[in-house]
Amino acid sequence: MNKPKRYTITSALPYTNGPIHIGHLAGVYVPADIYARFLRLTGNDVVFIGGSDEHGVPITIKAKNEGVSPQDVVDKYHAIIKKSFEEFGISFDNYSRTSAKVHHETASEFFKTLYDKGAFIEETSEQLYDEQANQFLADRFVTGTCPKCGNEEAYGDQCEKCGTSLNATDLINPKSALTGNVPTLKETKHWYLPLDRYEDFLKEWILEGHKKDWKPNVYGQVKSWIDDGLRPRAVTRDLDWGIPVPVKGGEGKVLYVWFDAPIGYISSTKEWAARVGKDWEPYWKSDDTKLVHFIGKDNIVFHCIIFPAMLKAEGSYILPDNVPANEFLNLEGNKLSTSKNWAVWLPDYLLEFPNQQDVLRYALTANAPETKDNDFTWKDFQARNNNELVAIFGNFINRVVVLTNKYYEGEVPVPNELSQIDEETLAAVKAYPDVIASSIERYRFREAQQELMNLARLGNKYLADEEPWKVIKVDEARTKTIMYVALQIASALATLSEPFLPFTSAKLKGILCHSALDAESTWSDIASKNILLPSGHNIGEAELLFSKIEDETIQFQLDKLEASKKANEAAKKVVEPQKETITFEDFAKLDIRVGTILEAEKMPKAKKLLVLKVDTGIDVRTIVSGIAESFTPEEVVGKRVTVLVNLAPRELRGVVSQGMILMTENAKGKLVFVNPDDANVANGLHIS
Ligand SMILES: [Zn+2]
Repeated sequence: MNKPKRYTITSALPYTNGPIHIGHLAGVYVPADIYARFLRLTGNDVVFIGGSDEHGVPITIKAKNEGVSPQDVVDKYHAIIKKSFEEFGISFDNYSRTSAKVHHETASEFFKTLYDKGAFIEETSEQLYDEQANQFLADRFVTGTCPKCGNEEAYGDQCEKCGTSLNATDLINPKSALTGNVPTLKETKHWYLPLDRYEDFLKEWILEGHKKDWKPNVYGQVKSWIDDGLRPRAVTRDLDWGIPVPVKGGEGKVLYVWFDAPIGYISSTKEWAARVGKDWEPYWKSDDTKLVHFIGKDNIVFHCIIFPAMLKAEGSYILPDNVPANEFLNLEGNKLSTSKNWAVWLPDYLLEFPNQQDVLRYALTANAPETKDNDFTWKDFQARNNNELVAIFGNFINRVVVLTNKYYEGEVPVPNELSQIDEETLAAVKAYPDVIASSIERYRFREAQQELMNLARLGNKYLADEEPWKVIKVDEARTKTIMYVALQIASALATLSEPFLPFTSAKLKGILCHSALDAESTWSDIASKNILLPSGHNIGEAELLFSKIEDETIQFQLDKLEASKKANEAAKKVVEPQKETITFEDFAKLDIRVGTILEAEKMPKAKKLLVLKVDTGIDVRTIVSGIAESFTPEEVVGKRVTVLVNLAPRELRGVVSQGMILMTENAKGKLVFVNPDDANVANGLHIS
């Protein structure tokens, strides 16, 4: 497209069944925010849209489990999520929610238009039904065995193990998530969007039209969906939480959450336009508007196939110009997971790293999963902060501000003749706006941020090479020039860092007193103006922009994750039901003693067995124990153990075993000795 007249930027609507974590921020919201801030700084007409996705089955299940209403669940998390976005500087022009009236009306109208145009097909089919709960079971209301991979805990809409998208009726051995009952089949009518009708349109628009400008991961996924052949997809559900189907026969049914959610972008734009007194329509219906959807890779099919098909069917809307979906961010080598509490939650982060939003934004962008899944590690986070933000950016700014205050009482000095290095340095600064812009325009935010840091490096190196703190002793005139040049770089950094580090940028502009300038520099001024901070301009006192993060702080985060891991492993263990009751006499028959292992060796040709010599206090006897996969012989010699001594002798591979050593198993499946923890307990004592 030629230069767009305006931009509509959307970011995936977070699902309101929990707070958001670093994966959401890295995958969607930080890149979208960098893009929106950059476009505003470069003088574009931009609306940056967000909102909470508040419908769908998981919310009703969560409400049921917590004994509250679905509205209670979404009210709670909408507030938490909205606050996190504000705290992390995600600069939405409007943040709405799909339970809002404007959204219900917009989505309902949209459905009605498509219905009137004959864009749906109606189909009566047999669906799973829970007789006891009086409810149809779609999506997450039903679990069963995945027909593709055999995972026994697949959901009615998707198997999370193999990623296959499923219909509830595909599941083998389906079970109601509401009552645990085996569902029956019952007839119900639904409306379907016949995606197969849009195959040609999608092929032409994406496969031919966006071959070059869409990211390969997005293009590839879309291509494989289209190549597989598209099928009609239900747009309604038998459910009472959502937007009622607004046509005859739709009683007791709602729009499928995936039909209504993307329309939320439109409703949120309407809400914004009404608030600021603008017309929303050009932002969605004008050919000179550039529409960009920021999403994670799990949403590609909805934003590149289903929503465009809906927009096409409606007929009056533009299509996205790009959908720069990211891959996933992992945490310390494992997939982020809400249910396993394997995440860094934004509210927790801010409690533990107050006022350090930019550090997280920086580390996440530096490691953004733009082309492949990437890993967030706390060590990397620490290194990015200490070695880059503190040592380069912060150090440069601090030196400039401290020295300007020390030598000139905060006044930008009048430079003398510029040296060749000065000229080259200032020329290099002028190149950065275009270099960074070019990366941002191609959705390469990592690269863009690296360039920003290169500008800070340039400043840091300039000062280190020119050494004004030494030159001042011999050449005051030269020192003025050096400080003047350094101050121009600092000012450029204040402006160019805004999309990436908005809090730091604001703080730095405050220190440099940008607001006292006749006109504050815009993005393009940095390339065109020779003077950003004029001589005679006064700057403020130094303040630290970043501070070093210590090893203990990082260790605390790692320990927290380790605790989550342990809790997950323990939770995974199924506790077996209690065995049949026995009498005291039954128990008294067991002769259990304290013993010590004296010798141990591997049983030849047996993977699991160790042959032990055990001092039972009564005698030293041979016991064959199945512990060789958990212990080497050397590890067990000297171990205090609990022995059942009156178990009838058994022959194992030609060795007679006289008794049994009591063991249990830890969370990782490793065997653990059951032993008295007081070393003064003598061998042979009874355990009773
Ligand atoms: Zn599967």
